[in-house]
Amino acid sequence: MTVLNDILNKLPADAAIESTSYEGANIVIYTKNKTFFAQGGDIIRALVSEVKKRIDLRADGSLRMGTKEAEKLVREIIPKEADIHQILFEPARSLLTIEVKKPGLAIGKDGDNLKKIKEETFWTPIVRRDSVIPSKITTNIRNVLFTDSEDRKKFLHKVGQRIYEQQLSTSEEMWVRITALGAGRQVGRSCFLLQTPESKILLDCGVNVAAHGKYQFPYLNAPEFRIDELDAVIISHAHLDHSGFLPFLFKMGYRGPVYLTEPTRDTTALLLLDYIQVNQSNSKTPLFASADIKEAIKHTISLEYGEVTDITPDVRLTFYNAGHILGSCLVHLHIGDGYHNFMYTGDFKVRDSRLFDGASMQFPRLETLMMESTYGLPNDTMPSREDSEANIEKIIKETLARKGKVLIPSLGVGRSQEIMLVLENIAREEKLDFKVYLDGMVWDVAALHNAYPRFLNKDVRDKIFYEGQDPFLSPIFTRVGSGKERQEAIEGGPCVFIATSGMLTGGPSLEYFKKLGDNPKNSMIFVNYQGEGSLGKKIQSGASEVQVDNEFVKVKIELHTISGLSGHCDRIELMEYIQKVKPRPRKVIIVHGEQSKTLDLASSIHKSFRVETTAPRNLETIRLR
Ligand SMILES: [Zn+2]
Repeated sequence: MTVLNDILNKLPADAAIESTSYEGANIVIYTKNKTFFAQGGDIIRALVSEVKKRIDLRADGSLRMGTKEAEKLVREIIPKEADIHQILFEPARSLLTIEVKKPGLAIGKDGDNLKKIKEETFWTPIVRRDSVIPSKITTNIRNVLFTDSEDRKKFLHKVGQRIYEQQLSTSEEMWVRITALGAGRQVGRSCFLLQTPESKILLDCGVNVAAHGKYQFPYLNAPEFRIDELDAVIISHAHLDHSGFLPFLFKMGYRGPVYLTEPTRDTTALLLLDYIQVNQSNSKTPLFASADIKEAIKHTISLEYGEVTDITPDVRLTFYNAGHILGSCLVHLHIGDGYHNFMYTGDFKVRDSRLFDGASMQFPRLETLMMESTYGLPNDTMPSREDSEANIEKIIKETLARKGKVLIPSLGVGRSQEIMLVLENIAREEKLDFKVYLDGMVWDVAALHNAYPRFLNKDVRDKIFYEGQDPFLSPIFTRVGSGKERQEAIEGGPCVFIATSGMLTGGPSLEYFKKLGDNPKNSMIFVNYQGEGSLGKKIQSGASEVQVDNEFVKVKIELHTISGLSGHCDRIELMEYIQKVKPRPRKVIIVHGEQSKTLDLASSIHKSFRVETTAPRNLETIRLR
């Protein structure tokens, strides 16, 4: 008997269930009985604790108020101060999403406003926080998800059927294995295939932005990878070396679920659209189009940290905070009803940063840990965040005092927002009045941080909710929206620029460098890794003159490198994590690092903690149990 039938049999006869459907691992029942819809909560709660599945009770379409009338009523019930941005209806699922600036006010005391909306309109309301900083991307993505309500319902139902109704091989011997399709003894193109007799799951699907030709992409031509057999894709975080090849799966016909967090979904979309543009402007043909990105978005299922979800008949997924960038997660898989527990760190940071708490360290169970090793060598150590921040403060004060400008080339996602908070803190604590211009993707991504405060640490979250303290809205920040505005800022007084790209390989940071690079009054601060061959690396290594496009720029700008604001663990943190993680895993798999780093870290962990370690090459498969 299916879990759906089981639930239907347990409901009272007058529940008048008109239809049922899965929404991924959740079960939704639609009633035609108004009283049961309003008062059936206790019965449903009892049922949830009995069958251990999430069950949603919603009203059948025949009971619902028309959308126009419902929208009018919602606007009457929700106080004006909550500031409604838009109301989106999903008729196929009886859902009504209200986007507001102030969710607390919209929900009301004890959820009273939502209760009222539900009882009077027979729609099930959901409140979403809209960024206080206007963001087109979030609005567009939500529209993509909400426009084809019927399609979305069918897709979610199919995912549920796969989880609950298609168990293939109950009698077969159990095993779990993982194959590196990318990021084996290298940084870039992260992609791993996890298999059990029942399930095939892809962990990340990234590109190697620094590589050329076929070396950019994961080994999807490996014999064990069959796109038509793939059950689910999990994306650990938005950076392109973890998400950049996702649309290609959809181009090749994949139509299954993509599990990620909401901020990862939005940031990934932003980065992928930018990736297409960058490819086009370098006259390279992108391997996928924006239609493929849209298809990927339509198939996302977003989860919160700590939310436990079945994703196949024998695998249960939970995300935990990874502390790396907005929405980044540690991916925990509970396999075969406790047969094996596996966790993949994606990119992670153990120490706290201005934006995020350090990565989670406690799990119900853990046997195998697969971790990154970007900074895996013993000499890969970073100065403390406090020292790094003090250094930035000193550079800014000195540069502004001599009427110079500070250029901080930075990655669009992660570092830029961390630096924004560092600068905001300096301005506030030191009562220093200076202007910070944000150019490139920096502003859009800041807006995403503002839209998802629950993914930030408590300190920033509290400030965002407290009137007048939102650090992203500090008056020191100005968005540069056009070439003209950029020119005006460059010609203006002393100030700071945060601009992409982080390695001066293109984008606005290069434009600023051309104008500011030959003046010793100015300063440039490198805050992220400078890749071999990049202009940033040449300058950092002491070039006295560099060629940018057709111009030659004499490098007279004062140069600084600040390495303590990284979103990755340094070597000390990586070792510290193995020491502190609970429970201690029996096996550690090292990936996402240059060969020497993966090997050194694997051997050091083995020596220090007496656990089995391995550093697979690409295409190698490891049996976990
Ligand atoms: Zn990353």
